[in-house]
Amino acid sequence: MLIGVPKEIKNHEYRVGLTPAVVSELTQRNHQVLIETTAGDGVGFSDDDYTRAGASIVADAAAVFAQAEMIVKVKEPQAVERKMLKAEQTLFTYLHLAPDVPQTNDLIASGATCIAYETVTDSFGRLPLLAPMSEVAGRMSIQAGAHCLEKYCGGRGLLLGGVPGVEPAKVVVLGGGVVGQNAIAMAVGLGADVIVLDKNVDVLRRLDQHYGNRIKTVFSTAQAIEDHIFEADLVIGGVLIPGAAAPKLITREHIKQMKPGSAIVDVAIDQGGCAETSVATTHQDPTFIVDDVVHYCVANMPGAVARTSTLALNNATFSYVLALAEKGTKRALEEDPHLLNGLNVAKGKITCKSVAEAQNLSY
Ligand code: NAD
Repeated sequence: MLIGVPKEIKNHEYRVGLTPAVVSELTQRNHQVLIETTAGDGVGFSDDDYTRAGASIVADAAAVFAQAEMIVKVKEPQAVERKMLKAEQTLFTYLHLAPDVPQTNDLIASGATCIAYETVTDSFGRLPLLAPMSEVAGRMSIQAGAHCLEKYCGGRGLLLGGVPGVEPAKVVVLGGGVVGQNAIAMAVGLGADVIVLDKNVDVLRRLDQHYGNRIKTVFSTAQAIEDHIFEADLVIGGVLIPGAAAPKLITREHIKQMKPGSAIVDVAIDQGGCAETSVATTHQDPTFIVDDVVHYCVANMPGAVARTSTLALNNATFSYVLALAEKGTKRALEEDPHLLNGLNVAKGKITCKSVAEAQNLSY
């Protein structure tokens, strides 16, 4: 198959669809790969790295879109890219179509086969191509939270792990899913005092078995959340109700009663955030303060660690890219119901129920 990778053009997006290591795996199996020049520069992969991996470097995105049978990207195609997409092409990338009417209309009009990373499933009902970004964001949330607790950020002036003779900070993690587990691992590693709340007892059971009495697990009720966030130095918001806006577990009133200089890292901000006071921020200006509580609400946290995120994403996408290349899109989709769940638009029609419902379209 002829696979193409354009350079990402969304603002401050440095990730790249395929790493040289994955390109090499593909070219060794006699697939051809076209890479737009400088596509990997932002994460330290040069044109030479790709050439050594067997790719051909092309001058611009137009050359990629003109020739490739499958386009592999990271972010949803921008308007200028969508214009170049053709009916016989496969697009494999994050799409997040539900709230994005213009993109949906353009993908329908293109006639292309569009597979979204975020709706590919696995046999445990999980979303394997979303998980690596939650792992990154979960781990980053503790780094970000540690900074928020420093004086110059408006924080209490606390070191997460304390020092001998000085007690550590108290970290409350809301949601023990992928973000929560990774936040806990980092917070425990730094020596913080960690409490996790989840409404799924199995999640708490697994965490309890893993950490023993090193962390506390608490069933999530409105009362339990109140009790613990008032004591917290750092709150990590990692809750998710699939397909829905994040539940507002922390109200404006709660914020007023939290410790002055405490911090919230609301990772769930990409689903609206789990604090009423959360508003999406950017890496350029990541924090703001409400009632003396520092809020960090960056909606694309993995973008800041673009190299790690690119490598983690490629680890997850590789087997699907390979299946699509080896079998062709049609057979790869027919033989794998989990990959088929990733199919959002094909031949001018929406093929994903949640996208169709979100936009009142037939499917
Ligand atoms: P997940 O499904 O693995 O985990 C979510 C957990 O929340 C589940 O264990 C669920 O039981 C729990 N939960 C739901 N309602 C709850 C409640 N009322 N109280 C306590 N727990 C509750 O999801 P995830 O992959 O960990 O993602 C969490 C959030 O982080 C999502 O909104 C995701 O989109 C977001 N995210 C944001 C970024 C970013 O850059 N900001 C990056 C990656 C993921």
